[in-house]
Amino acid sequence: MNKEPDGPEGRLRRFATIWSRAIFPVTATSLTRQEFEEQLLPHARVLRDALTARVFDSATGHAVGSALVDVHCTDPEALSRTLDVVDAYLVLYCGAERDPEELRARCARVQHAVAAGFAQALRERTRAEQEAISRAALDARHAVAEALHASEARFRAVFEGAAIGIGIADLDGTVLQVNEAMLRMFGGGLDKYIRGRKVNEWTHPDDAPQVWRLYEELVRGERDHYRVEKPYYRQDGTVLWTNLTVSLLRDADGRPQYQLALMEDTTERRLLNLRLRYEATHDALTGLPNRTLFFERLEKALSAPDGKRFGLCYLDLDGFKAINDSLGHAAGDRLLVEVADRLQSCATAPGEMVARLGGDEFVALTTGPDTEREVDELAGRILSMLAIPVRIEGRELTVRGSIGIVEGPAGERTPAEVLRSADITMYRAKSAGGNRFELADPKVDASTITRHSLTTALPAALERGEFFIEYQPLVHLGEGSVSGAEALVRWLHPQHGVLGPDRFIPLAEDTGLIVPLGRWVLEESVRQAHAWHQRHLPGGPVRINVNLSPCQLYHPGLVADTVDILERVGLEPGSLCLEVTESALIGADDDLLKPLRLLAEMGVNIALDDFGTGYSNLANLRRLPVSELKLDRSFTQGMQHYPADQVDLKIVEGIVSLAHSLNLSVTVEGVETAVQADQLRRLGCDTAQGWYYARPGPPDRLHTLALVDAVG
Ligand code: C2E
Ligand code: CA
Ligand code: CA
Repeated sequence: MNKEPDGPEGRLRRFATIWSRAIFPVTATSLTRQEFEEQLLPHARVLRDALTARVFDSATGHAVGSALVDVHCTDPEALSRTLDVVDAYLVLYCGAERDPEELRARCARVQHAVAAGFAQALRERTRAEQEAISRAALDARHAVAEALHASEARFRAVFEGAAIGIGIADLDGTVLQVNEAMLRMFGGGLDKYIRGRKVNEWTHPDDAPQVWRLYEELVRGERDHYRVEKPYYRQDGTVLWTNLTVSLLRDADGRPQYQLALMEDTTERRLLNLRLRYEATHDALTGLPNRTLFFERLEKALSAPDGKRFGLCYLDLDGFKAINDSLGHAAGDRLLVEVADRLQSCATAPGEMVARLGGDEFVALTTGPDTEREVDELAGRILSMLAIPVRIEGRELTVRGSIGIVEGPAGERTPAEVLRSADITMYRAKSAGGNRFELADPKVDASTITRHSLTTALPAALERGEFFIEYQPLVHLGEGSVSGAEALVRWLHPQHGVLGPDRFIPLAEDTGLIVPLGRWVLEESVRQAHAWHQRHLPGGPVRINVNLSPCQLYHPGLVADTVDILERVGLEPGSLCLEVTESALIGADDDLLKPLRLLAEMGVNIALDDFGTGYSNLANLRRLPVSELKLDRSFTQGMQHYPADQVDLKIVEGIVSLAHSLNLSVTVEGVETAVQADQLRRLGCDTAQGWYYARPGPPDRLHTLALVDAVG
């Protein structure tokens, strides 16, 4: 076996060393650190195998968690440190030559399994201990009873040797005797703090309501024992949690005489439980409450008594995906953390909470007395907080958000209904341009289709042929002739009429349906282009532009499918232009770009769509196989009327000259007025697309435009 420091065994050893250093200080063991490390080594090996095994078996991680408990690592801190070490070092030392994404995912599963194994083993151990303690308690009680009647010496032995705290008080509550174990629980050596004091002085704000009632019943002789969970203050002010069993001791004639308290320290177990509960109810990335906790709170708010109201803001970041795709997940994560912090600072009043539902979706809940007004203010605060730019990796990013607000009386709707309504409303805010909030409207809710129902209907829609394509002309700015058309897909939904691509393309991307749908769009529009060519439109062959989603771009069948379609239909590769977004290409390495490069070498044109929205590096353009830039609509918005926005003019001018120097042609999108068209022509843009020339429409309209409407 390889024992070189750099070999697999050496690395495994280093992992075990780090691990043992991390948890040794919080482990109650008599071993030395080195011996302890030896003990951990086989478990480290199990972790490594779990990380790299072809098929993941959670039982292996589970076994390691449970082994930790066996070697006395029962402190919650030991678990937490173990998870940290696994998180930071397992992949590093034990995951050579594997796909890093896969390893990260596997590592997370390993951690879950370890935590689950730990929790279960600890629960089992606690149960065993409790049984032992109950037995000891029973023995002690017998011994005390006997001792009171018989041998004082034997009583002493049990009393002092017991692992649980034992105390005796008279019926007034004055403490007469406590054993060592109980003194230790209260901090040790604090005889005076306990002995001679009254039992009923030890109140604590977290005492359950029945604690003192049961006590009174016992000292009055109305009950023989009770068992409660009770907190105490130690002398140093810290809190001791106990399982407390109090029994009444009667004299030989059955008259109440003493009370006997048996006390078990549950502080640590309680901490662990709190910790596990915290982890189950909070988002690991941002530390915000997660979906589970949010639903609990929402449920509570909705089942509040009559007259109470609630307000909910459902926030989805605008354009987060583009940031994540172009700057990478680490930057995306940092942005989410920053957003979470800001949200938290917006909702600090009592009755307000913020949670992360997942991805870039957050919620803020308010249950104050005046939610009708407060929830609007809350949404306003959130939007203005988001407006402040975030600095990440030396860049200033502006995140915006869309918020759906639901407000109303408690007791009328279920959490799921409220969330659905909020989601629909958020979408309305997004469709209206984002960076705003909208109020829920029950009439709109009823007629709105949810993302979920659309997603499930997508596959059948493709089979039933519910999709169709509209074409929008691309106009040559110099000659005013139609040089091509962009294919834009629509869905004729049987209930909801025509739906635009923004409604369903993201869903198709999430579910993978985009691949067959995209293939259909490609074939259909290539056929259409072929038909136009056959009819010999004036101005020569018309080029067809087809949008490609990132998933299609990286689908292994892309090149073969495209070639197949072009050949079957009989269209020149040069008559096809594939539009890919800037954000899909950022960060793509040469391997990922290969299919696109192959297509480009074959003569297919590649356009960089929505240019200017993806935070890309202009210097990057050179290594991409593109021949055309499509400038995003946002650049031309400032030029609709005279005088045009000077900054926009300068930017567009700069981009055009850069593009031309790289041999790229420039198409501008969203040209809506003659003023814009004029300016853009003067700035040297090559091609334009927009409502000024024509809205997207059926294929025969393109023909008409070419003959009649062409604008010079
Ligand atoms: P895009 O590629 O940027 O397409 C241009 C969008 O701008 C189209 O919206 C078009 O209708 C709209 N538009 C055109 N001229 C003007 C104008 O003068 N003013 C304004 N305000 N808007 C104008 P549409 O059709 O809703 O498409 C939205 C997006 O959906 C497209 O953005 C494209 O990214 C995606 N998409 C459309 N069809 C497909 C497809 O077949 N496959 C894929 N993967 N995505 C598609
Ligand atoms: Ca496009
Ligand atoms: Ca575009």
